[in-house]
Amino acid sequence: MNKTGILIVLSGPSGCGKDTVLSQLIDSNEDIKVSISMTTRAPRAGEIDGVDYYFVTREYFEKKIADGSMLEYAEYNGNYYGTPKAPVDEMLRNGISVVLEIEVQGAEKIRKLYPDAVSVFLLPPSLNALEYRLRTRGTEDEETLAHRLYIGEQEIKRAGEFDYYVINDKIRDALDDFETIIRAEKLRMSRNKNVISEVINNV
Ligand code: 5GP
Repeated sequence: MNKTGILIVLSGPSGCGKDTVLSQLIDSNEDIKVSISMTTRAPRAGEIDGVDYYFVTREYFEKKIADGSMLEYAEYNGNYYGTPKAPVDEMLRNGISVVLEIEVQGAEKIRKLYPDAVSVFLLPPSLNALEYRLRTRGTEDEETLAHRLYIGEQEIKRAGEFDYYVINDKIRDALDDFETIIRAEKLRMSRNKNVISEVINNV
């Protein structure tokens, strides 16, 4: 019935648990994939090129912007981050729903480009909880951490621009909420124009 996948945007402040929610989501939903972004940020310990991100130079990234290969991109904390367009379009065409895990400027661009996209903002239970998580993750030096927290608070102030919010207090509940949103969106009448005639013609 619904042959085209849904484009899903997931945003939320650094440290709110987007990666954890998404890795569990794709483990249990084979028709949902996460787009692999391109970035000029240096890889963290354990991150793999082509799996977590495509890690590239600024020069290469700017070439990709210029030749129109990026669906959207933004600068975040001094680095470029962006979504390569071709793989997303191909997955959607093949009926795969695609999650873009991106920050708020990118989310704004996607909303304009794809009015049918569903946008979800993942919130921490509090700013204190966010700081605690970012600290215990231990991936940032003090200055970067402070800057990420500052950006995170500014991003949270823009959560009202999104279609849905999910609070990540307990990961299982956050995942349930996220899956519920996706399930409901797949049943939207406007995405399933053929359903009525299919039922009527079904003998
Ligand atoms: P991190 O450095 O923690 O991996 O990512 C920093 C921020 O960049 C996060 O909010 C993440 O969601 C966002 N981000 C990752 N990939 C993309 C992308 O392709 N486009 C945009 N606009 N933001 C991205």
